[in-house]
Amino acid sequence: MQFTYQISEVKQIILAEGNIINNDLISVLLTDSRRIVSATGSLFFALSSRRNGHEFVINAYNAGVRNFVINSLPEAPMPDANFLLVGDVLLALQTLAAHHRQRFDIPVIGITGSNGKTIVKEWLYQLLCPEKHIVRNPKSYNSQIGVPLSVWQLNSTHEMGIFEAGISTTHEMDRLQAVIKPTIGILTHMGTAHDEGFRDRDEKISEKLKLFRESELLIYNYETLLDHKVEIENIKCFTWSRKFKIADLYVFSETTISGRYYLRALFKDDEIECLIPYRDEASVENAIICWATMLAMGYSPDIADDRIERLTAVSMRLELKQGINNCSVIDDSYNSDIQSLEIALNFLDQQNQYPKKTLILSDIYQSGVEQPVLYEQVAHMISSKHIHRFIAVGEALGQNKQHFTLPEMHFYKDTQALIDALPKLNLHDETILIKGSRAFEFERVSRLLVQKAHETVLEINLNSVINNLNFYRLKLQPGVKIMAMVKAFSYGSGTFEIANVLQYNKIDYLAVAYTDEGVELREAGITVPIMILNPEPLAFDKLTSNKLEPSIYSFGLFDEFIKYAQEAELINYPIHLKIDSGMHRLGFESTEIDALCDLLEINTYVRVQSVFSHLAASDAAQHDEFTMQQISVFDSAVKQIENTLGYNVIKHISNTSGITRWPNAQYDMVRLGIGLYGVDAAVPAELTDLRPVATLRTTVSQVKKVLAADTIGYNRNGSLTADGKIATVRIGYADGYRRAFGNGVGRMLVNGKLAPTVGNISMDMCMLDVTGIEVKEGDEVIVFNDTLRIEQLAKEIGTIPYEILTNVSERVKRVYFYE
Ligand SMILES: *Cc1c(COP(=O)(O)O)cnc(C)c1O
Repeated sequence: MQFTYQISEVKQIILAEGNIINNDLISVLLTDSRRIVSATGSLFFALSSRRNGHEFVINAYNAGVRNFVINSLPEAPMPDANFLLVGDVLLALQTLAAHHRQRFDIPVIGITGSNGKTIVKEWLYQLLCPEKHIVRNPKSYNSQIGVPLSVWQLNSTHEMGIFEAGISTTHEMDRLQAVIKPTIGILTHMGTAHDEGFRDRDEKISEKLKLFRESELLIYNYETLLDHKVEIENIKCFTWSRKFKIADLYVFSETTISGRYYLRALFKDDEIECLIPYRDEASVENAIICWATMLAMGYSPDIADDRIERLTAVSMRLELKQGINNCSVIDDSYNSDIQSLEIALNFLDQQNQYPKKTLILSDIYQSGVEQPVLYEQVAHMISSKHIHRFIAVGEALGQNKQHFTLPEMHFYKDTQALIDALPKLNLHDETILIKGSRAFEFERVSRLLVQKAHETVLEINLNSVINNLNFYRLKLQPGVKIMAMVKAFSYGSGTFEIANVLQYNKIDYLAVAYTDEGVELREAGITVPIMILNPEPLAFDKLTSNKLEPSIYSFGLFDEFIKYAQEAELINYPIHLKIDSGMHRLGFESTEIDALCDLLEINTYVRVQSVFSHLAASDAAQHDEFTMQQISVFDSAVKQIENTLGYNVIKHISNTSGITRWPNAQYDMVRLGIGLYGVDAAVPAELTDLRPVATLRTTVSQVKKVLAADTIGYNRNGSLTADGKIATVRIGYADGYRRAFGNGVGRMLVNGKLAPTVGNISMDMCMLDVTGIEVKEGDEVIVFNDTLRIEQLAKEIGTIPYEILTNVSERVKRVYFYE
């Protein structure tokens, strides 16, 4: 059923050069050597945007892959592999997917827009799957790489495809159009997101419309395309509107009924209605789009209403949370299909914090594949992911037991049976993936396994961490390494959670401030080299037994370490030498280099792994002359040291803003700190592709009416200028929301509106002026995120973003997620 292509056929399709050694059959396309499920049948695309491309090729080869699309032959000999040589590997991937797409004469819905693509896609899937076996993008795989991989899933059992396409700049949509070739198009909400990549909103809309070039039907909001009518004049259109009667679906009445949203509209001169189980603005708009689509496709208003009423929430997020009994829990309890299972399993596989891994999995519905085949596939996928314990829930899994061979297995007929058995299972010190189809209500399981969070949470977007890492990678000259600074709890963002992501993404080095921080990473299974910036002599034992590498910044420390090394009989232990080139904090001064070299010449206990220095003002133009001087001081110190040693060391001086502003000072490595977390003082926030990693959110505990004459909080410092209302929220200075934010200095986002603080900040809570804002108890409040940025907060209280980030106290639970 899975389509296969002979590699010789692929070669012709993508117009590649190269010799075919064995005419293998290809069924799987790979772009990431860390995600190999079965090597036979896999074709690996070595995408050049990824650094270490050739390293990934070698990894894939070692894992058994023998077919590659590549733009230059690897140096290492791999005589039994097929290499298809092309100029543009990404284009080859897209060309192959486009060819595959052409073999299917089925309706394909193509979705684009700036917001709501994934929700609309998932909802349409829910709405249309009763009749049709549908293929769609997993999660929000809508990029230049994600779309071809999604379309490649098409096979002869599918009766419909629903694919979303995301673009961030011009010329990208033509390529995605060729791959998706939608017969039906949907344009979702057009907001201002990703405006950077376009001249203006019109250019952005025109680019997106290219997806529909060959579509037979287009569904869109009437107002959005008033200025773009010519571009779509050849397409049959179905419009919806809340303002214009001329639209095919004219929504003229909207009211809330007991938490749901009731819409009335005119359609073909009839009055029709629809009840939506959500009432927030975005969900309502997305639901209207789905409604319009169903009507445009010929569904009756009754069926549309009936199904829309039963739409369920779509969670595209994979959340990593702290569990009970010292467990990590990956919570993906909202839906289950084979593609998203694979994504979740990969995330589980990335976790190193506990040797033991457990998978809790429910039956998978609507796969369109015969059960035995499906579960054999599932079993095969699971077998490569280092899972120790398999907990299966559902009758289908029970009936297909025989396919699974894992060290420990439990089968339960339903969720309740699992819940009853949980105490006996004695889950502790392990990483648990919870993955269930909607109907199994696995949130009941996750509620029992996840530590209850006090309602203030720091959310860390792991996609953004990777995005930021790649953002800086693209700025590096070939071969330059990256040391990621994960000191101070990764600038407040987490320990092993961040380190796992970095290690998985092939970071060269990590650095922390103190030995204990390094030990914690080693205990969590982090194996990459780790530099300790400030090693304490009392902890040298711990340091060396954990293979941590000290930074040596003074003669005193050098002596102590050599003495220790002598006693411990170390040979060539890696150390890092820190030069003080002008910061005047730690390091050997230029006048001390001669003496340092004398010491280095006679010692065999240590080996100098790297020599580095730190820039005091790499982000500030007014200090550029000073920075240049620092670089030159460093340069001559390094030369002298290398001459003495007779071997080359890794040289590094640039921190985040150094990477951005001093491309000539990259040397062999850069030390990436705050940029990883989405902040770079050297570039204005609105002009970069960096993404803030953290969102700090809390909730409203109470809303009160207050009079102008009332005072609010300790010392009666706060009051409103007129009668109004305040909200008490669950965050205070003990959580890291500094007292300096009090009395109107700080602001938070309450239901999308900025609300200033009133009165003093208390230890565990504070009050906001929410006069004129619709708010109730339990509502969410944003302290900072990608709109209300930490740069802004820092400015308000006269500090720097570093301090805002690292201040968030450990009492605030961290939740990590992948989209
Ligand atoms: C913290 C630190 C960095 C990272 O600085 P950023 O400005 O956060 O990039 C680099 N080098 C040293 C020595 C540091 O202590």
